[in-house]
Amino acid sequence: MKPLFKEIAACPVCQQLLEWEAETVRCTGPGCGRSYSLAGDVPILDLSEDNGSIADPVPDPNARSGLRRMASSFLRVESSTYKTRQGRERQPRFIASLGPDAIVLNVGAGKTDFGARVVNLDIGPFPNVDVVGRSEWLPVRDHAVDAVITIGVLEHVGDLAETLKEIDRVLRPGGQVFHEVPFIQGKHGSIDHRRFTYQGAAALVDDYELLDEGVAVGPSSALGWILAEWFALLFSFGNARIFSVASRLFSKIFSPIRYFDAILEQRPEARVTACSLFVQARKPEISS
Ligand SMILES: [Zn+2]
Repeated sequence: MKPLFKEIAACPVCQQLLEWEAETVRCTGPGCGRSYSLAGDVPILDLSEDNGSIADPVPDPNARSGLRRMASSFLRVESSTYKTRQGRERQPRFIASLGPDAIVLNVGAGKTDFGARVVNLDIGPFPNVDVVGRSEWLPVRDHAVDAVITIGVLEHVGDLAETLKEIDRVLRPGGQVFHEVPFIQGKHGSIDHRRFTYQGAAALVDDYELLDEGVAVGPSSALGWILAEWFALLFSFGNARIFSVASRLFSKIFSPIRYFDAILEQRPEARVTACSLFVQARKPEISS
C-alpha cells in the first residue's frame, strides 16, 4: 500500500476517518466503529467477499502448465486490440498534466500502476492494488482527490449511477475525471453489463466541463475482435470448448487487422464504430 492512501482513506460506510492498527483498520465514526481486515498491508475496505477484478482481466501466462501452457502461449495474442502510441501515452500524460502534488484515484486499477501519486483501488488484492474496495462505496474522504481515472471499468460495475455519484463525492471541486469505456467489443470478464457510444460516454460527465473526448482504441481492433468471435461461432458447431480455442485461434489470424488503427483512429468518423472511447472532464469549482 502506498502511504499516500492513508491521507485520503475513509470508512466506506460512513466516510469517517480510519485508525490503523497492527492487523485491522478501525472506523472512528461515532455509531459506526466497523473494523476491516488487512491483506498484508492492503486494507480490505469492502463490504462483500467477491475477489474478482473490476478492471478488464490481464492474462497471466503462468496460470497454466505443460501442454496447455504451450498451446495457450501459441494461441495467445498479447491483446486482441491495438492501442496506438498516442493512445498509450494518454493516461500518463493526463496524470502528468495534473502536477507533481496531485492525488489521483485509479478505480478498478487491476494490475496497472501509474506512479507514486496514483492510489490503486480494485475489488481484489492484486499486485499494485493499494486498497480493496467497491466503486459504489469508495473508501475515500469527500473532495480528497484531484482526479479519478477508470480504464475499462465502468462496463463491469454493478451500479453505474452510484459509482459516478461516488466519484463525484471524492473529487475536489475543479478536479478532473478520465474515463475509458468500451463500445464495439464482445462480452468479456466474468461480469460485463454495458457499452457506451460517444454520446453515452459524454453523458457520463454531463454536469462537468468536457475537456477532451475521442477514440481510445480504434474500429480496426473492434473489427478484428468481432471477426474472430464470428468465425469461432461458425466453426465451433455449438461446442463451447471448441469455441474457446477457435476464438483464440481466429483472434491470432485476424490480429493484423488491428494495426490499421494507426491510420484510421484519427478520422473523425472512427468514433462511430470504435472499440473504445475516452472522455476527460472537469468538475465545476462551485457545485450548483
Ligand atoms: Zn464507519
